[in-house]
Amino acid sequence: MNNMSPDLPPFMNSQAGSPPPMASSGSFAQSMGAFGTMLKIQEAISNKFPSSKVPWKDTRIFLRAHTIESIRSTSLYVFMIRLFKEVGLGEMQLIGYAPMHYVFAVPGCPVCNIYPALHNQKVCVATSDALHRFFKEELELDCTVEETECVKDSGAVCKFKVSLQPISAYKVLLDDNDRLILAGKKPANIEQSELCNRVEILTIYKLLDQGKLSDIGEAYIQFAGSIPFKEKIFDPPWKTAEELKSIVSKHDAFGSAFGEMAAKVQSINSTNTKIPPTPSLSNVSPSSVPSVSHVQGQTAKIKDEAKNASSFAELIAKMKKQN
Ligand SMILES: [Zn+2]
Repeated sequence: MNNMSPDLPPFMNSQAGSPPPMASSGSFAQSMGAFGTMLKIQEAISNKFPSSKVPWKDTRIFLRAHTIESIRSTSLYVFMIRLFKEVGLGEMQLIGYAPMHYVFAVPGCPVCNIYPALHNQKVCVATSDALHRFFKEELELDCTVEETECVKDSGAVCKFKVSLQPISAYKVLLDDNDRLILAGKKPANIEQSELCNRVEILTIYKLLDQGKLSDIGEAYIQFAGSIPFKEKIFDPPWKTAEELKSIVSKHDAFGSAFGEMAAKVQSINSTNTKIPPTPSLSNVSPSSVPSVSHVQGQTAKIKDEAKNASSFAELIAKMKKQN
């Protein structure tokens, strides 16, 4: 503890393991600010990552894409980039690709900015860890992640290289038709163009060589034959997000509609007069305007329904039935 800064509490001075110490020569306030920012990122990761599991079906599309442009257009890539931004790790983007190797860059990396006093070392452990966790836990792809360049280490931009462990990548990449092709059989019901496409991808991944099973392919088939992989079928997380979004937009519509109605009843009660004509009601004949007691009754009913309904979708369904 010889290098302990006098203005730092003991827990900030631990040199053991990663991440690097917070601003070891900065001010105490700076250190506490950095500590808080780091905590926020870790908390966001803990909150969002567990609900971000991706089915193999979609990871397969990502793995089959073999140009930077085509990878960037997969749903998984778009989802991942949004997720990393949401947890506070910045605007990540894919800048390099080779089969089983992905290089991501984070221009203006926010993690580096947390350590204003650190220099001559790579400091973005939080980003490396998050990449590893996302690939390993959310995609079920074993991998290694290395920060190959860091702004804090004279780099132009922070860069991270994700290298997939081949057996793990093959496990997710190959579907039943691929396994048939590797076994030398032509799958039924697939077009010639799809067959060519699959052969191309199996060749890129070095499982086929000149149209024949390669040594790697043979070794993998033997290995995989002894371990039956179980593919879980479920919806990708971006589908849930899209559904939630549509429920929220319905909720907003209902909320404002309900608020408007409640406000109307309120004004009726306080002035004890007839409903004043509003722009939207100006063309409605007086007989079609609901009576005060009717509106109050309906409002009370809706309030009760709102209390009892366990989900918003249920509430909407009940309201539809009433009308
Ligand atoms: Zn960095």
